[in-house]
Amino acid sequence: MARCDALGVAPYSDMAGGLYRGYLTPAYHAAQGALAGWMTSAGMTVRRDAAANLIGRYEAVTPGAPALLIGSHLDSVRDAGRYDGPLGVTLGIEAVDALRAAGRRLPFAIEVIAFGDEEGSRFPAAMLCSRAVAGTLAADALDLADKDGIALADAGVDVGNYLTAARTPASVRAYFEAHIEQGPLLEAEHLAVGTVTGIASQVRYQIAVQGTAGHAGTTTMALRHDALAGAAEMIVAVEAIARADASDLVATVGRIEAMPGAPNVIAGQAQFSLDVRSGNAAWRDRAANAILDAFREIADRRSLGCAISRIHDLPASPCDPLLMDLLDHATLAAGQPVLRLVSGAGHDAMAMAALCPTAMLFIRCKGGVSHNPAEHVDAADAEIALQVMLGFIEQLGATFANA
Ligand SMILES: [Zn+2]
Repeated sequence: MARCDALGVAPYSDMAGGLYRGYLTPAYHAAQGALAGWMTSAGMTVRRDAAANLIGRYEAVTPGAPALLIGSHLDSVRDAGRYDGPLGVTLGIEAVDALRAAGRRLPFAIEVIAFGDEEGSRFPAAMLCSRAVAGTLAADALDLADKDGIALADAGVDVGNYLTAARTPASVRAYFEAHIEQGPLLEAEHLAVGTVTGIASQVRYQIAVQGTAGHAGTTTMALRHDALAGAAEMIVAVEAIARADASDLVATVGRIEAMPGAPNVIAGQAQFSLDVRSGNAAWRDRAANAILDAFREIADRRSLGCAISRIHDLPASPCDPLLMDLLDHATLAAGQPVLRLVSGAGHDAMAMAALCPTAMLFIRCKGGVSHNPAEHVDAADAEIALQVMLGFIEQLGATFANA
């Protein structure tokens, strides 16, 4: 945690008075330098891959054996907290340092990986680096420029070589990520850590409600086809349907726009977004369909048009059942109760699931606050997470001995 705090200020931040660390910025390179020093001290050999990820390797009993990857991201959003991402990396370094101090080697190597771009805070992409490692990135996805017009190709990586960061499945045993929860569930349950079951499936729609614009003073109430009032009723229906669902389902309207958007004109059109997520894609689709049916019913009753387009559909990314069991055992061995929870947010583990089995450990953060300088983790919780991580590594080693 002290290392995360150290990385929270200049020269490891690109922003005065707060933390912003963009992919391939001066702060990014400085932070990689600090991490490389800590990795070396922990007994790792350090390299930078073709996607500018920093990787430290702690060799197995048999040199060259496949690796357990332990990672998270080094980049941050603007005015970020200090633990979203880096804590998963520094915990990995601590775990390896404990193994080194104990003279312990395992049947697999351990590679601690600090991914470059996860947040998409500099270039308009997300999880660029874990997708490169997982081998799911297409070459045309690298045709990117930041808001200052600097192309990725001119930002300090060789774009022509970028996709060679991909790992072969044979070189990797599993991927493990410890990350702050960024939600309130662990705090509400008075738990330091939880086993993540997977990353929620997500579907996003754009809805355009068509009414008739009219004079706010002269059009009587009975004669109106108010697109904004119709949209408002639809939004309340979204909340009611999601609240009535007893599963992990969440549904959100986060953006709305009324046209023409004048105080004295009845809105002729309203457009809004809909985002629906659940760990179970069938539950997600059931709720989404109920919501869209409600939209059509409201539009019919109000004689409004309603055009619905599905703009984004991400499948769920389940964690590996065997690894979840090992993580539960390690949690119990650390004297902590077990809680399994779904991640509503995306993480590098989601991209890495295309390469290998994945496991994720969530760590309690105060008030569930993240992407905010007020983000806070108790040092005692980070210590518990380290013990669980070490237990998980030993459990995984034991499954190799029994295999
Ligand atoms: Zn994160």
